[in-house]
Formats: sequence, structure tokens, C-alpha cells
Amino acid sequence: MSLLAALADLVQPVRCVACGSTSGALCAGCLPQLPAFRSRDAWAAAPYDGAVRTALLAYKERGRRDLAAVLGGLLARSVTAALGANRDPPGRVVLMSVPSARSVAATRGGDHVLRLARRAAPACGARVAGDALTLTRAVHDSAGLTAEQRVRNLGGAMAARPARPGLVAVLVDDIVTTGATLHEAHRALAAAGWPVLGAAVVAATARRLHPVSRVCIGSAQAHGLT
Ligand SMILES: [Zn+2]
Repeated sequence: MSLLAALADLVQPVRCVACGSTSGALCAGCLPQLPAFRSRDAWAAAPYDGAVRTALLAYKERGRRDLAAVLGGLLARSVTAALGANRDPPGRVVLMSVPSARSVAATRGGDHVLRLARRAAPACGARVAGDALTLTRAVHDSAGLTAEQRVRNLGGAMAARPARPGLVAVLVDDIVTTGATLHEAHRALAAAGWPVLGAAVVAATARRLHPVSRVCIGSAQAHGLT
């Protein structure tokens, strides 16, 4: 950011990404007020539409990092709901952020999911393991891929550090679309011996009910992901 742009930020009020009001990056009027809900694949704070979709796109694609706090707050709602469904976690909870392709992270100025996990963790009494899950080979950004292509793109692409005694994992991501990413992350964590309590995302799309994704979701259910 140039000095001029930084100075401009200081004097210009932050505008709501959805309605343009000066009441915050995503104002109270645009922030979803519904409780987190359980989609097939993960707990979600909101459907992926309206103000939340606008905010996630601005955060990821247009560099609106000032939205990290409010989007992290939404993720915290989902994590809390996922933990509530496991009333007696068998260990200390670790948020496992789903890894982005390095090239994508570079384009977006860092790991945008990890940043949200770090915002969400304190409100959930959890810690964050940003490097526990990694990509072991090149993958394409899943945006624009069909459900089948996503499964092929991600199958066997992740690895996890070995589980540590006394810790349990909750997978976190920004959006669940087909469930392919969460399924692969869950597979990698389970292979490394991690107990996985569930998954939590900011928003869930209606595409998670795509017929092809049901195959993946069925496998995820067999692993106890949903
Ligand atoms: Zn607003």
C-alpha cells in the first residue's frame, strides 16, 4: 500500500461492503443474525449469498482485510456450534485451517482461511494449527471447477502432521461448496491419527447438494465428518 493510500484510509470512514453505510466493514444491519446451522458437510454461520457472499468475495479477491474480524466472528459461531454438538470433547480443541495453494495464497496476500481461524479461535477457547495440514502436490484453485473436477483435483493432495496426545481437531474453511476440500482434509487428518470433531465454515452454498458431491459427502459421513 502506498503512503498516499494509507493516509487516505486514515481519513476515509470504513464503509460496509454490502450497503455502503459507515457503520463498519460489514454493518450490524447486514450481518446475519440467525444461529449457525448444520449443512451436510459442516456447521455454517450463513448461506453463501447476499451480504455474506459479498463480504467473502471482497475479503478474498479484493483485499478487504478489514473484513477479517467480522468474518472470523461468523466462523467462531460455526465452531462454537460444532463444539456444542460434541459436549464433551476428548481433548483440547485445535482449529485446522484448510490449506490454500501457495500461488493462490500469494495472489491473495496470505492464507485467508488461516487469518479467519486466528480471529475465531479466542472466542471458541481453541488454538490454531496453521501448518498441521499441507498440500503435498500442486492443485488448482477450486473456483470454477465442477464437483467431479474438485474431487479429482484434491484427492490424496493433503497430508497432516502426526496427531498429538490430548488434542482434537475441528476443520475450518471459509466456504463449503461440494464438500470435496473438507473431505480430503478430514482424510489426511484421520490418516495422521487426529480425532476430528467436525467442520465449521463461514458460509455454505446450495451446491453442496450436487448429485456428484453426495458420493464425497457419503464418504465424509462414513468418516464421521458431518
Ligand atoms: Zn451494511
